Amino acid sequence: GIQLKDKVCIITGVGSLKGIGRATSLLFAHQGAKHLYLLDFSDENLPNLKSTIEQKYPDVKATVIQADAADDAAISGVCERALQEEGRLDVFFANAGIATASTIEHTPADVFNEVMRVNALSVYLAVKHASAAMKKTNSTRGKEFSGGSIILTASVAGIRSGAGSVDYSASKAAVNSMAKTAAWQLQRTDIRVNSICPGLIETGMTIGTFDYARQRGNDAKLGQLNPLGRFGVAEEIAQVALFLASDASSYVNGQNLAVDGGLTGS
Ligand code: NAD
Repeated sequence: GIQLKDKVCIITGVGSLKGIGRATSLLFAHQGAKHLYLLDFSDENLPNLKSTIEQKYPDVKATVIQADAADDAAISGVCERALQEEGRLDVFFANAGIATASTIEHTPADVFNEVMRVNALSVYLAVKHASAAMKKTNSTRGKEFSGGSIILTASVAGIRSGAGSVDYSASKAAVNSMAKTAAWQLQRTDIRVNSICPGLIETGMTIGTFDYARQRGNDAKLGQLNPLGRFGVAEEIAQVALFLASDASSYVNGQNLAVDGGLTGS
């Protein structure tokens, strides 16, 4: 069946061709979302994403926005826009993020700040403005049982050590913390907050790692760290975002959900 019927969704970090945000946008469209507001810092692939969705799924509206996910006015603006145009906001997938390959010795303070700004502040702004818009949606909703869902992209690097640089890992641990704290602060509002913690996924972010390994013929080794013995693809994260966005997850709240082939399993 159609899992996102009538839902109005915002997704950030959709601009990378092999990225998690784009894969999720296409899956949400396939699942019949009503209107997708799709945001990225880079506008390079936004027109293509919009036309791909509108050609394949004529009933789905796609609005693309070039903006910084860590910009307060941009995020409050897109939430307001959803309320004005559609009268509701159901899902906010705060997925934009950046990674560094920096060591403790070589992480300048401005780089540390920028990673925290893009990865953690952006998530705080999403929680703040999406929850306000979802509360307004609640007050206009009829008897239908369907609250808001805020989904954050963290990382296995936010759960365990050894998987990332200090700035990136700290920012993703902050995201996991916010999923739990926000779920409690939003108690009795019918708004759920969860984070997804991907393991190694082949996307724009990790392409350098994959290219480097492929040149040496040992890319298969990249996945061998987890019990499944392979790396993941963006669609496998998109499917989990779909579950958290849909009413199928109506009792899942305050969780940091690892999607990592078992890497962080015990
Ligand atoms: P990606 O680089 O392919 O896509 C990320 C997108 O976010 C890009 O289109 C980029 O332009 C956009 N972006 C970056 N900064 C932004 C900003 N300030 N405002 C708006 N957009 C911005 O990478 P991806 O792997 O699809 O990353 C998606 C999320 O998944 C990130 O939060 C990342 O940290 C997380 N993640 C990825 C992996 C992995 O192995 N690929 C693992 C764990 C977590």
